[in-house]
Amino acid sequence: MRKLVFVTAALVAAVAVFVLRTIPPRRAALNAIDDGTVAGIIHVHSNRSDGSSSPDEIAAAAAGAGLKFLVFADHGDATRKPEPPAYKSGVLCLDGVEISTSGGHYVAMDMPAAPYPLAGEARDVVEDVRRLGGFGIAAHPDSPKPQLRWTEWTAPFDGIELLNPDTSWRIVGQQPGWRGRGRLLTALVDYPFRAPETIAHLIQPSTVIYPWLATTERRRVVGIGGVDAHAKINLRGDPADATGWSLPLPGYGPAFRMMSIHVNIERPLTGNAASDAAVLMRGIRGGHLYTAVDGLAGPPAFEFSATNDFGTVHEGDELTAGGGLTLRVRSNAPAPFTTIVHEGPRTIATVRDPQDLTVHAAANPAVYWVEIVSNDTPSIVWLRSNPIYVRGTAPLTQPPTRLPATASQPLFSGTSLERWTTEHDATSLSASELTDGGPIRELRFRFGLSGGARVGQVAAVAVETPGGIAPNTRLALTARADHPMRLSVQLRGGDGGSERWGRSVFLDRFDQDRTIYFDELTPVGNTQTWSPPLNTIRSVLFVVDTINSAPGASGTIWIKKAELQR
Ligand SMILES: [Zn+2]
Ligand SMILES: [Zn+2]
Repeated sequence: MRKLVFVTAALVAAVAVFVLRTIPPRRAALNAIDDGTVAGIIHVHSNRSDGSSSPDEIAAAAAGAGLKFLVFADHGDATRKPEPPAYKSGVLCLDGVEISTSGGHYVAMDMPAAPYPLAGEARDVVEDVRRLGGFGIAAHPDSPKPQLRWTEWTAPFDGIELLNPDTSWRIVGQQPGWRGRGRLLTALVDYPFRAPETIAHLIQPSTVIYPWLATTERRRVVGIGGVDAHAKINLRGDPADATGWSLPLPGYGPAFRMMSIHVNIERPLTGNAASDAAVLMRGIRGGHLYTAVDGLAGPPAFEFSATNDFGTVHEGDELTAGGGLTLRVRSNAPAPFTTIVHEGPRTIATVRDPQDLTVHAAANPAVYWVEIVSNDTPSIVWLRSNPIYVRGTAPLTQPPTRLPATASQPLFSGTSLERWTTEHDATSLSASELTDGGPIRELRFRFGLSGGARVGQVAAVAVETPGGIAPNTRLALTARADHPMRLSVQLRGGDGGSERWGRSVFLDRFDQDRTIYFDELTPVGNTQTWSPPLNTIRSVLFVVDTINSAPGASGTIWIKKAELQR
Protein backbone atom coordinates (compact mmCIF):
# COMPACT_ATOMS: atom_id res chain seq x y z
CA MET A 1 0.00 0.00 0.00
CA ARG A 2 2.73 2.46 1.00
CA LYS A 3 4.58 1.48 -2.15
CA LEU A 4 1.52 2.30 -4.27
CA VAL A 5 1.17 5.70 -2.58
CA PHE A 6 4.83 6.37 -3.19
CA VAL A 7 4.66 5.38 -6.86
CA THR A 8 1.55 7.49 -7.39
CA ALA A 9 3.12 10.48 -5.68
CA ALA A 10 6.26 10.10 -7.78
CA LEU A 11 4.18 9.89 -10.95
CA VAL A 12 2.14 12.98 -10.04
CA ALA A 13 5.36 14.84 -9.25
CA ALA A 14 6.89 13.78 -12.58
CA VAL A 15 3.81 14.95 -14.53
CA ALA A 16 3.77 18.20 -12.55
CA VAL A 17 7.42 18.85 -13.35
CA PHE A 18 6.82 17.96 -17.02
CA VAL A 19 3.81 20.26 -17.27
CA LEU A 20 5.60 23.10 -15.48
CA ARG A 21 8.51 22.80 -17.90
CA THR A 22 6.44 22.51 -21.10
CA ILE A 23 3.21 24.42 -20.57
CA PRO A 24 2.87 27.55 -22.72
CA PRO A 25 2.48 30.89 -20.95
CA ARG A 26 -0.95 31.97 -19.82
CA ARG A 27 -2.62 34.19 -22.41
CA ALA A 28 -2.26 37.92 -21.92
CA ALA A 29 -5.53 39.32 -20.55
CA LEU A 30 -6.24 42.56 -22.43
CA ASN A 31 -8.62 45.36 -21.60
CA ALA A 32 -11.79 44.89 -23.61
CA ILE A 33 -12.16 47.76 -26.08
CA ASP A 34 -15.12 48.11 -28.43
CA ASP A 35 -13.62 48.36 -31.93
CA GLY A 36 -16.99 48.06 -33.67
CA THR A 37 -16.60 44.36 -34.47
CA VAL A 38 -18.46 41.26 -33.37
CA ALA A 39 -16.48 38.15 -32.47
CA GLY A 40 -17.37 34.73 -33.78
CA ILE A 41 -16.08 31.65 -35.46
CA ILE A 42 -16.56 29.88 -38.78
CA HIS A 43 -16.06 26.36 -40.12
CA VAL A 44 -17.55 24.33 -37.29
CA HIS A 45 -18.52 20.66 -37.64
CA SER A 46 -21.42 19.27 -35.63
CA ASN A 47 -22.72 15.73 -35.17
CA ARG A 48 -24.67 16.20 -38.41
CA SER A 49 -21.36 15.25 -40.04
CA ASP A 50 -18.14 14.29 -38.29
CA GLY A 51 -18.31 16.62 -35.29
CA SER A 52 -19.07 15.27 -31.85
CA SER A 53 -21.81 17.56 -30.47
CA SER A 54 -25.20 18.87 -31.53
CA PRO A 55 -25.58 22.40 -32.93
CA ASP A 56 -27.30 23.47 -29.67
CA GLU A 57 -24.44 22.19 -27.51
CA ILE A 58 -21.90 23.84 -29.79
CA ALA A 59 -23.75 27.15 -29.65
CA ALA A 60 -23.69 26.94 -25.86
CA ALA A 61 -19.92 26.37 -25.99
CA ALA A 62 -19.56 29.42 -28.25
CA ALA A 63 -21.61 31.50 -25.82
CA GLY A 64 -19.34 30.34 -23.00
CA ALA A 65 -16.35 31.53 -25.01
CA GLY A 66 -17.94 34.96 -25.41
CA LEU A 67 -18.62 34.60 -29.14
CA LYS A 68 -21.57 36.29 -30.83
CA PHE A 69 -21.83 34.27 -34.04
CA LEU A 70 -21.04 30.83 -35.35
CA VAL A 71 -21.03 29.42 -38.89
CA PHE A 72 -21.51 25.67 -39.18
CA ALA A 73 -19.83 23.90 -42.09
CA ASP A 74 -20.78 20.25 -41.88
CA HIS A 75 -19.49 18.07 -44.70
CA GLY A 76 -22.02 17.64 -47.49
CA ASP A 77 -22.88 18.22 -51.13
CA ALA A 78 -25.01 21.31 -50.39
CA THR A 79 -28.31 19.58 -51.24
CA ARG A 80 -29.40 19.61 -47.57
CA LYS A 81 -31.59 22.64 -46.91
CA PRO A 82 -29.60 24.87 -44.56
CA GLU A 83 -31.16 25.74 -41.23
CA PRO A 84 -32.35 29.36 -41.26
CA PRO A 85 -30.23 31.75 -39.18
CA ALA A 86 -31.17 31.42 -35.51
CA TYR A 87 -30.05 32.62 -32.12
CA LYS A 88 -29.07 29.70 -29.90
CA SER A 89 -27.78 30.45 -26.40
CA GLY A 90 -27.56 34.07 -27.57
CA VAL A 91 -25.20 33.15 -30.42
CA LEU A 92 -26.23 33.93 -34.00
CA CYS A 93 -25.91 30.58 -35.80
CA LEU A 94 -25.55 30.36 -39.58
CA ASP A 95 -25.60 27.10 -41.46
CA GLY A 96 -23.01 26.48 -44.16
CA VAL A 97 -21.53 23.40 -45.75
CA GLU A 98 -18.04 22.05 -46.48
CA ILE A 99 -18.03 20.63 -49.99
CA SER A 100 -15.44 18.09 -51.14
CA THR A 101 -14.14 18.78 -54.64
CA SER A 102 -11.37 17.14 -56.62
CA GLY A 103 -9.34 20.30 -55.93
CA GLY A 104 -9.86 20.42 -52.16
CA HIS A 105 -12.54 21.44 -49.67
CA TYR A 106 -14.75 24.51 -50.17
CA VAL A 107 -16.70 26.03 -47.28
CA ALA A 108 -19.88 27.62 -48.67
CA MET A 109 -22.32 29.78 -46.72
CA ASP A 110 -25.20 32.19 -47.19
CA MET A 111 -26.93 30.24 -49.94
CA PRO A 112 -30.00 28.05 -50.41
CA ALA A 113 -29.87 24.28 -50.92
CA ALA A 114 -28.29 23.32 -54.22
CA PRO A 115 -30.64 21.70 -56.77
CA TYR A 116 -28.11 18.93 -57.44
CA PRO A 117 -25.06 17.59 -55.57
CA LEU A 118 -22.13 20.01 -55.69
CA ALA A 119 -18.98 18.00 -56.32
CA GLY A 120 -16.43 17.24 -58.97
CA GLU A 121 -13.96 19.83 -60.12
CA ALA A 122 -13.21 22.73 -57.79
CA ARG A 123 -13.72 25.31 -60.56
CA ASP A 124 -17.23 23.95 -61.16
CA VAL A 125 -18.13 24.01 -57.46
CA VAL A 126 -16.86 27.61 -57.17
CA GLU A 127 -19.04 28.49 -60.18
CA ASP A 128 -22.07 26.71 -58.69
CA VAL A 129 -21.71 28.42 -55.29
CA ARG A 130 -21.49 31.80 -57.06
CA ARG A 131 -24.55 31.10 -59.16
CA LEU A 132 -26.48 30.13 -56.05
CA GLY A 133 -25.51 33.45 -54.48
CA GLY A 134 -23.29 31.89 -51.82
CA PHE A 135 -19.95 32.91 -50.38
CA GLY A 136 -17.20 30.29 -50.63
CA ILE A 137 -13.92 29.87 -48.79
CA ALA A 138 -11.05 27.71 -50.00
CA ALA A 139 -10.51 25.58 -46.90
CA HIS A 140 -7.13 24.58 -45.43
CA PRO A 141 -5.13 25.33 -48.62
CA ASP A 142 -1.93 24.37 -46.81
CA SER A 143 -3.11 21.00 -45.55
CA PRO A 144 -0.40 18.35 -45.80
CA LYS A 145 -3.12 15.92 -46.95
CA PRO A 146 -3.45 16.19 -50.75
CA GLN A 147 -7.17 15.20 -50.71
CA LEU A 148 -7.97 18.13 -48.41
CA ARG A 149 -5.64 20.79 -49.79
CA TRP A 150 -7.13 23.48 -52.04
CA THR A 151 -5.32 23.48 -55.38
CA GLU A 152 -7.57 25.47 -57.73
CA TRP A 153 -5.84 28.84 -57.53
CA THR A 154 -7.26 30.14 -60.80
CA ALA A 155 -10.91 29.69 -59.80
CA PRO A 156 -12.72 32.82 -58.53
CA PHE A 157 -13.16 31.63 -54.94
CA ASP A 158 -14.32 34.38 -52.57
CA GLY A 159 -12.22 33.73 -49.50
CA ILE A 160 -9.35 31.64 -48.25
CA GLU A 161 -8.43 30.16 -44.89
CA LEU A 162 -5.11 31.57 -43.74
CA LEU A 163 -5.41 29.89 -40.35
CA ASN A 164 -6.77 26.42 -39.67
CA PRO A 165 -5.62 24.80 -36.41
CA ASP A 166 -6.62 21.35 -37.67
CA THR A 167 -4.08 21.75 -40.47
CA SER A 168 -1.45 23.00 -38.02
CA TRP A 169 -1.69 19.80 -35.94
CA ARG A 170 -1.34 17.70 -39.05
CA ILE A 171 1.76 19.65 -40.09
CA VAL A 172 3.28 19.28 -36.62
CA GLY A 173 2.42 15.56 -36.51
CA GLN A 174 4.09 14.97 -39.86
CA GLN A 175 7.39 16.58 -38.97
CA PRO A 176 10.13 14.03 -39.59
CA GLY A 177 11.40 11.90 -36.73
CA TRP A 178 9.86 12.06 -33.28
CA ARG A 179 9.99 15.84 -32.83
CA GLY A 180 6.53 16.59 -34.19
CA ARG A 181 4.83 13.66 -32.55
CA GLY A 182 6.65 14.50 -29.34
CA ARG A 183 5.23 18.03 -29.51
CA LEU A 184 1.70 16.64 -29.97
CA LEU A 185 2.12 14.27 -27.02
CA THR A 186 3.44 17.13 -24.90
CA ALA A 187 0.41 19.20 -25.93
CA LEU A 188 -1.84 16.32 -24.89
CA VAL A 189 -0.32 16.39 -21.38
CA ASP A 190 -0.47 20.20 -21.12
CA TYR A 191 -3.96 20.52 -22.61
CA PRO A 192 -6.00 19.82 -19.45
CA PHE A 193 -4.17 22.61 -17.63
CA ARG A 194 -4.17 25.42 -20.22
CA ALA A 195 -6.14 24.28 -23.26
CA PRO A 196 -6.52 27.38 -25.49
CA GLU A 197 -2.90 28.36 -24.94
CA THR A 198 -1.72 24.83 -25.72
CA ILE A 199 -3.61 24.71 -29.04
CA ALA A 200 -2.51 28.24 -29.93
CA HIS A 201 1.14 27.32 -29.53
CA LEU A 202 0.80 24.55 -32.10
CA ILE A 203 -0.17 27.05 -34.82
CA GLN A 204 2.09 26.83 -37.85
CA PRO A 205 2.83 29.71 -40.22
CA SER A 206 0.60 29.71 -43.28
CA THR A 207 2.38 28.60 -46.43
CA VAL A 208 -0.21 30.17 -48.75
CA ILE A 209 0.31 33.85 -47.94
CA TYR A 210 2.15 34.45 -51.24
CA PRO A 211 -0.36 32.69 -53.49
CA TRP A 212 -3.12 34.60 -51.67
CA LEU A 213 -1.32 37.92 -52.20
CA ALA A 214 -0.83 37.06 -55.86
CA THR A 215 -4.61 36.70 -56.24
CA THR A 216 -5.29 39.93 -54.31
CA GLU A 217 -3.31 41.87 -56.91
CA ARG A 218 -6.11 41.11 -59.36
CA ARG A 219 -9.22 40.83 -57.19
CA ARG A 220 -10.45 40.94 -53.64
CA VAL A 221 -10.03 37.66 -51.75
CA VAL A 222 -11.13 37.59 -48.12
CA GLY A 223 -8.47 36.13 -45.83
CA ILE A 224 -10.05 34.42 -42.85
CA GLY A 225 -9.36 31.85 -40.14
CA GLY A 226 -11.47 28.69 -39.92
CA VAL A 227 -11.54 26.86 -36.60
CA ASP A 228 -12.41 23.55 -38.35
CA ALA A 229 -13.62 22.30 -34.98
CA HIS A 230 -14.85 18.69 -34.68
CA ALA A 231 -14.03 18.06 -31.02
CA LYS A 232 -12.62 14.84 -32.33
CA ILE A 233 -9.09 13.93 -33.26
CA ASN A 234 -8.59 10.69 -35.04
CA LEU A 235 -5.35 9.08 -34.03
CA ARG A 236 -4.77 7.96 -37.57
CA GLY A 237 -4.90 11.63 -38.52
CA ASP A 238 -8.13 11.81 -40.44
CA PRO A 239 -11.14 13.37 -38.67
CA ALA A 240 -13.43 12.09 -41.42
CA ASP A 241 -12.38 8.50 -40.72
CA ALA A 242 -15.03 7.25 -38.32
CA THR A 243 -13.56 3.78 -38.02
CA GLY A 244 -10.39 4.69 -36.15
CA TRP A 245 -9.92 5.40 -32.48
CA SER A 246 -10.53 9.04 -31.72
CA LEU A 247 -10.20 11.42 -28.80
CA PRO A 248 -12.76 14.18 -28.09
CA LEU A 249 -10.03 16.80 -28.47
CA PRO A 250 -9.76 19.65 -28.63
CA GLY A 251 -13.18 20.39 -27.19
CA TYR A 252 -15.39 23.02 -28.80
CA GLY A 253 -15.02 25.34 -25.78
CA PRO A 254 -11.19 25.45 -25.83
CA ALA A 255 -11.17 25.68 -29.64
CA PHE A 256 -13.52 28.70 -29.46
CA ARG A 257 -11.38 30.32 -26.78
CA MET A 258 -8.28 29.80 -28.89
CA MET A 259 -9.20 31.94 -31.90
CA SER A 260 -11.90 34.25 -33.22
CA ILE A 261 -13.02 36.18 -36.27
CA HIS A 262 -13.91 39.83 -35.71
CA VAL A 263 -16.32 41.26 -38.25
CA ASN A 264 -16.94 44.96 -38.60
CA ILE A 265 -20.69 45.32 -39.00
CA GLU A 266 -22.62 48.32 -40.27
CA ARG A 267 -25.01 48.34 -37.32
CA PRO A 268 -25.19 46.52 -33.98
CA LEU A 269 -26.92 43.15 -33.93
CA THR A 270 -30.55 43.51 -32.86
CA GLY A 271 -31.59 39.97 -32.03
CA ASN A 272 -33.51 39.45 -35.28
CA ALA A 273 -31.64 36.43 -36.64
CA ALA A 274 -32.51 36.90 -40.31
CA SER A 275 -31.58 40.56 -40.59
CA ASP A 276 -28.56 40.18 -38.28
CA ALA A 277 -27.31 37.32 -40.47
CA ALA A 278 -27.58 39.55 -43.53
CA VAL A 279 -25.59 42.31 -41.79
CA LEU A 280 -22.97 39.83 -40.63
CA MET A 281 -22.62 38.28 -44.08
CA ARG A 282 -22.18 41.71 -45.66
CA GLY A 283 -19.25 42.27 -43.31
CA ILE A 284 -17.73 38.86 -44.08
CA ARG A 285 -18.24 39.19 -47.83
CA GLY A 286 -16.68 42.63 -47.73
CA GLY A 287 -13.57 41.34 -45.97
CA HIS A 288 -14.28 43.75 -43.11
CA LEU A 289 -12.75 41.35 -40.64
CA TYR A 290 -9.62 40.20 -38.91
CA THR A 291 -8.61 36.91 -37.35
CA ALA A 292 -7.10 36.78 -33.88
CA VAL A 293 -5.53 34.05 -31.77
CA ASP A 294 -7.11 34.57 -28.36
CA GLY A 295 -4.99 31.75 -26.94
CA LEU A 296 -2.06 34.20 -27.01
CA ALA A 297 -3.85 37.37 -25.91
CA GLY A 298 -7.39 38.63 -25.76
CA PRO A 299 -9.89 40.01 -26.18
CA PRO A 300 -8.34 41.79 -29.19
CA ALA A 301 -9.18 45.25 -30.48
CA PHE A 302 -7.94 46.43 -33.86
CA GLU A 303 -8.50 49.09 -36.48
CA PHE A 304 -6.79 49.50 -39.83
CA SER A 305 -7.43 52.42 -42.17
CA ALA A 306 -5.84 54.07 -45.18
CA THR A 307 -6.20 57.68 -46.24
CA ASN A 308 -5.23 59.47 -49.44
CA ASP A 309 -6.61 62.29 -51.60
CA PHE A 310 -9.76 60.27 -52.25
CA GLY A 311 -10.66 59.63 -48.64
CA THR A 312 -10.34 57.08 -45.85
CA VAL A 313 -11.20 53.39 -46.08
CA HIS A 314 -10.88 50.36 -43.81
CA GLU A 315 -9.82 46.75 -44.16
CA GLY A 316 -11.52 44.93 -46.99
CA ASP A 317 -12.18 48.19 -48.86
CA GLU A 318 -10.80 49.42 -52.14
CA LEU A 319 -9.32 52.89 -52.58
CA THR A 320 -8.31 54.56 -55.81
CA ALA A 321 -4.61 55.46 -55.79
CA GLY A 322 -4.10 59.20 -55.53
CA GLY A 323 -1.52 61.15 -53.57
CA GLY A 324 0.56 59.83 -50.72
CA LEU A 325 -1.06 57.12 -48.63
CA THR A 326 -1.24 57.19 -44.86
CA LEU A 327 -1.89 53.90 -43.10
CA ARG A 328 -3.04 53.84 -39.52
CA VAL A 329 -3.06 50.79 -37.27
CA ARG A 330 -4.52 50.88 -33.81
CA SER A 331 -4.70 47.87 -31.52
CA ASN A 332 -4.51 46.71 -27.93
CA ALA A 333 -1.56 44.43 -28.68
CA PRO A 334 0.31 43.58 -25.49
CA ALA A 335 3.73 45.11 -24.88
CA PRO A 336 6.15 42.61 -26.39
CA PHE A 337 4.15 41.96 -29.58
CA THR A 338 5.31 43.36 -32.93
CA THR A 339 3.10 45.06 -35.52
CA ILE A 340 4.11 44.46 -39.14
CA VAL A 341 2.64 46.47 -42.02
CA HIS A 342 2.95 44.82 -45.43
CA GLU A 343 2.68 46.20 -48.95
CA GLY A 344 1.89 43.06 -50.96
CA PRO A 345 4.69 40.59 -50.17
CA ARG A 346 6.98 43.39 -48.88
CA THR A 347 7.25 44.54 -45.27
CA ILE A 348 7.17 48.33 -44.94
CA ALA A 349 7.10 48.72 -41.17
CA THR A 350 8.00 46.55 -38.20
CA VAL A 351 7.35 48.17 -34.86
CA ARG A 352 7.38 46.63 -31.41
CA ASP A 353 4.59 47.55 -29.05
CA PRO A 354 2.85 50.33 -30.94
CA GLN A 355 -0.76 50.77 -30.01
CA ASP A 356 -1.24 53.57 -32.50
CA LEU A 357 0.98 53.39 -35.54
CA THR A 358 1.02 55.66 -38.59
CA VAL A 359 2.92 54.58 -41.71
CA HIS A 360 3.36 56.61 -44.87
CA ALA A 361 3.38 54.63 -48.10
CA ALA A 362 3.91 55.35 -51.76
CA ALA A 363 1.07 56.60 -53.97
CA ASN A 364 1.13 53.63 -56.34
CA PRO A 365 -1.46 50.83 -56.43
CA ALA A 366 -0.74 48.08 -53.90
CA VAL A 367 -2.38 45.79 -51.37
CA TYR A 368 -1.75 46.70 -47.72
CA TRP A 369 -2.28 44.36 -44.79
CA VAL A 370 -1.20 44.00 -41.19
CA GLU A 371 0.03 41.23 -38.96
CA ILE A 372 0.72 41.44 -35.25
CA VAL A 373 3.00 38.68 -34.04
CA SER A 374 3.80 37.31 -30.61
CA ASN A 375 7.17 37.35 -28.91
CA ASP A 376 7.47 33.56 -29.04
CA THR A 377 10.35 31.96 -30.91
CA PRO A 378 9.41 31.41 -33.65
CA SER A 379 6.73 34.07 -33.44
CA ILE A 380 3.06 33.22 -33.93
CA VAL A 381 0.69 35.53 -35.81
CA TRP A 382 -1.65 36.85 -33.14
CA LEU A 383 -3.74 38.98 -35.46
CA ARG A 384 -4.02 39.22 -39.24
CA SER A 385 -6.03 41.89 -41.03
CA ASN A 386 -7.69 41.81 -44.40
CA PRO A 387 -6.11 43.94 -47.09
CA ILE A 388 -6.88 47.49 -48.07
CA TYR A 389 -6.75 47.39 -51.85
CA VAL A 390 -5.30 50.54 -53.41
CA ARG A 391 -6.08 50.28 -57.09
CA GLY A 392 -4.97 52.18 -60.15
CA THR A 393 -7.18 53.17 -63.02
CA ALA A 394 -5.89 50.47 -65.40
CA PRO A 395 -8.09 47.36 -65.56
CA LEU A 396 -6.81 44.55 -63.36
CA THR A 397 -7.85 41.67 -65.55
CA GLN A 398 -7.40 41.13 -69.25
CA PRO A 399 -10.40 40.03 -71.27
CA PRO A 400 -10.12 36.41 -72.43
CA THR A 401 -7.81 36.08 -75.40
CA ARG A 402 -9.70 33.24 -77.13
CA LEU A 403 -10.25 34.09 -80.77
CA PRO A 404 -13.68 33.49 -82.26
CA ALA A 405 -14.11 30.25 -84.19
CA THR A 406 -13.64 30.47 -87.95
CA ALA A 407 -14.82 27.01 -88.99
CA SER A 408 -17.24 24.46 -87.63
CA GLN A 409 -18.36 20.89 -88.10
CA PRO A 410 -21.80 19.97 -86.78
CA LEU A 411 -22.17 16.86 -84.63
CA PHE A 412 -25.93 17.23 -84.53
CA SER A 413 -27.51 18.16 -87.87
CA GLY A 414 -31.09 18.72 -86.72
CA THR A 415 -32.36 16.22 -89.26
CA SER A 416 -31.09 12.81 -88.19
CA LEU A 417 -29.48 10.98 -85.31
CA GLU A 418 -27.12 9.05 -87.52
CA ARG A 419 -23.97 8.15 -85.54
CA TRP A 420 -25.72 8.98 -82.23
CA THR A 421 -26.19 6.23 -79.63
CA THR A 422 -27.07 6.04 -75.98
CA GLU A 423 -25.13 4.29 -73.23
CA HIS A 424 -25.91 3.39 -69.66
CA ASP A 425 -24.86 1.02 -66.91
CA ALA A 426 -26.77 -2.21 -66.31
CA THR A 427 -29.51 -0.67 -64.14
CA SER A 428 -29.84 2.91 -65.42
CA LEU A 429 -31.80 3.98 -68.51
CA SER A 430 -31.21 6.35 -71.39
CA ALA A 431 -33.01 7.15 -74.62
CA SER A 432 -32.55 9.68 -77.39
CA GLU A 433 -34.84 10.87 -80.18
CA LEU A 434 -35.47 13.80 -82.46
CA THR A 435 -38.21 16.11 -81.29
CA ASP A 436 -40.95 16.20 -83.91
CA GLY A 437 -42.61 19.12 -85.54
CA GLY A 438 -41.51 22.71 -85.65
CA PRO A 439 -38.87 24.27 -87.82
CA ILE A 440 -36.06 23.38 -85.43
CA ARG A 441 -35.77 19.79 -84.35
CA GLU A 442 -33.81 19.09 -81.23
CA LEU A 443 -32.08 16.06 -79.81
CA ARG A 444 -34.03 14.93 -76.76
CA PHE A 445 -32.04 12.83 -74.29
CA ARG A 446 -33.91 11.19 -71.45
CA PHE A 447 -32.10 9.54 -68.58
CA GLY A 448 -32.94 7.67 -65.41
CA LEU A 449 -30.18 6.73 -63.01
CA SER A 450 -30.81 3.69 -60.89
CA GLY A 451 -31.10 4.34 -57.17
CA GLY A 452 -29.11 2.87 -54.35
CA ALA A 453 -25.50 3.41 -53.38
CA ARG A 454 -23.59 5.99 -55.38
CA VAL A 455 -21.54 3.63 -57.53
CA GLY A 456 -21.33 3.43 -61.29
CA GLN A 457 -24.73 4.90 -62.24
CA VAL A 458 -24.30 6.54 -65.60
CA ALA A 459 -26.44 7.50 -68.58
CA ALA A 460 -25.04 9.08 -71.70
CA VAL A 461 -25.75 10.03 -75.26
CA ALA A 462 -22.76 9.75 -77.59
CA VAL A 463 -21.85 10.66 -81.13
CA GLU A 464 -19.19 8.86 -83.12
CA THR A 465 -16.30 10.82 -84.61
CA PRO A 466 -14.55 8.09 -86.63
CA GLY A 467 -11.78 10.26 -88.06
CA GLY A 468 -10.88 11.98 -84.82
CA ILE A 469 -11.76 15.59 -84.03
CA ALA A 470 -8.50 17.40 -84.90
CA PRO A 471 -7.89 20.19 -85.80
CA ASN A 472 -10.93 21.47 -83.87
CA THR A 473 -10.22 23.22 -80.60
CA ARG A 474 -13.61 23.42 -78.95
CA LEU A 475 -17.18 22.19 -78.82
CA ALA A 476 -20.06 24.64 -78.97
CA LEU A 477 -23.24 23.44 -77.29
CA THR A 478 -26.70 24.94 -77.01
CA ALA A 479 -28.79 22.97 -74.56
CA ARG A 480 -31.28 23.05 -71.71
CA ALA A 481 -32.66 20.57 -69.18
CA ASP A 482 -35.92 20.02 -67.34
CA HIS A 483 -34.20 20.94 -64.07
CA PRO A 484 -30.93 22.74 -63.21
CA MET A 485 -28.13 20.21 -63.47
CA ARG A 486 -24.59 19.55 -64.59
CA LEU A 487 -23.78 17.63 -67.74
CA SER A 488 -20.31 16.21 -68.29
CA VAL A 489 -19.07 16.67 -71.85
CA GLN A 490 -16.43 14.05 -72.56
CA LEU A 491 -14.12 12.95 -75.36
CA ARG A 492 -13.35 9.24 -75.64
CA GLY A 493 -10.42 7.67 -77.45
CA GLY A 494 -6.69 7.67 -76.87
CA ASP A 495 -4.82 4.64 -75.67
CA GLY A 496 -6.96 1.53 -76.23
CA GLY A 497 -9.85 3.74 -77.33
CA SER A 498 -11.35 3.95 -73.86
CA GLU A 499 -9.56 6.88 -72.25
CA ARG A 500 -11.77 9.89 -71.48
CA TRP A 501 -11.36 13.60 -70.85
CA GLY A 502 -14.16 15.85 -69.71
CA ARG A 503 -15.51 19.10 -68.42
CA SER A 504 -18.89 19.62 -66.86
CA VAL A 505 -21.26 22.40 -67.85
CA PHE A 506 -24.27 23.82 -66.06
CA LEU A 507 -27.62 23.46 -67.80
CA ASP A 508 -30.67 25.50 -66.85
CA ARG A 509 -34.31 25.22 -67.92
CA PHE A 510 -33.77 27.53 -70.89
CA ASP A 511 -31.36 27.27 -73.81
CA GLN A 512 -27.88 28.55 -73.12
CA ASP A 513 -24.69 28.46 -75.17
CA ARG A 514 -21.69 26.71 -73.71
CA THR A 515 -18.23 26.43 -75.22
CA ILE A 516 -16.01 23.60 -74.04
CA TYR A 517 -12.35 24.23 -74.90
CA PHE A 518 -10.41 21.02 -75.35
CA ASP A 519 -7.32 22.42 -73.63
CA GLU A 520 -9.42 22.85 -70.46
CA LEU A 521 -10.50 19.22 -70.25
CA THR A 522 -9.17 17.01 -67.49
CA PRO A 523 -8.76 13.23 -67.45
CA VAL A 524 -11.81 11.19 -66.38
CA GLY A 525 -11.64 7.74 -64.80
CA ASN A 526 -8.71 5.51 -65.54
CA THR A 527 -7.01 7.81 -68.06
CA GLN A 528 -3.24 8.03 -68.14
CA THR A 529 -2.75 10.95 -70.54
CA TRP A 530 -3.24 14.52 -69.31
CA SER A 531 -4.69 16.01 -72.50
CA PRO A 532 -6.75 14.32 -75.18
CA PRO A 533 -4.91 13.37 -78.40
CA LEU A 534 -7.60 14.83 -80.67
CA ASN A 535 -6.82 12.68 -83.73
CA THR A 536 -7.58 9.54 -81.70
CA ILE A 537 -10.96 10.69 -80.35
CA ARG A 538 -13.65 8.29 -81.57
CA SER A 539 -16.68 9.69 -79.79
CA VAL A 540 -18.03 12.71 -77.95
CA LEU A 541 -20.22 11.89 -74.95
CA PHE A 542 -22.78 13.86 -72.95
CA VAL A 543 -22.80 12.14 -69.59
CA VAL A 544 -25.06 12.23 -66.53
CA ASP A 545 -23.53 10.46 -63.54
CA THR A 546 -23.59 10.59 -59.75
CA ILE A 547 -20.87 13.22 -59.41
CA ASN A 548 -23.52 15.92 -59.88
CA SER A 549 -26.78 13.95 -59.96
CA ALA A 550 -28.27 12.03 -57.07
CA PRO A 551 -28.75 8.27 -57.45
CA GLY A 552 -32.24 7.70 -58.84
CA ALA A 553 -32.31 11.09 -60.58
CA SER A 554 -34.11 11.25 -63.89
CA GLY A 555 -34.72 13.98 -66.40
CA THR A 556 -34.58 15.28 -69.93
CA ILE A 557 -31.95 17.29 -71.77
CA TRP A 558 -32.59 19.04 -75.10
CA ILE A 559 -29.60 19.67 -77.35
CA LYS A 560 -30.26 22.29 -80.00
CA LYS A 561 -26.71 22.63 -81.26
CA ALA A 562 -23.56 20.57 -80.84
CA GLU A 563 -20.70 21.40 -83.13
CA LEU A 564 -16.95 21.13 -83.24
CA GLN A 565 -15.24 24.44 -83.89
CA ARG A 566 -11.80 25.77 -84.63
ZN1 LIG B 1 -11.96 20.11 -44.75
ZN1 LIG C 1 -13.69 21.05 -41.97
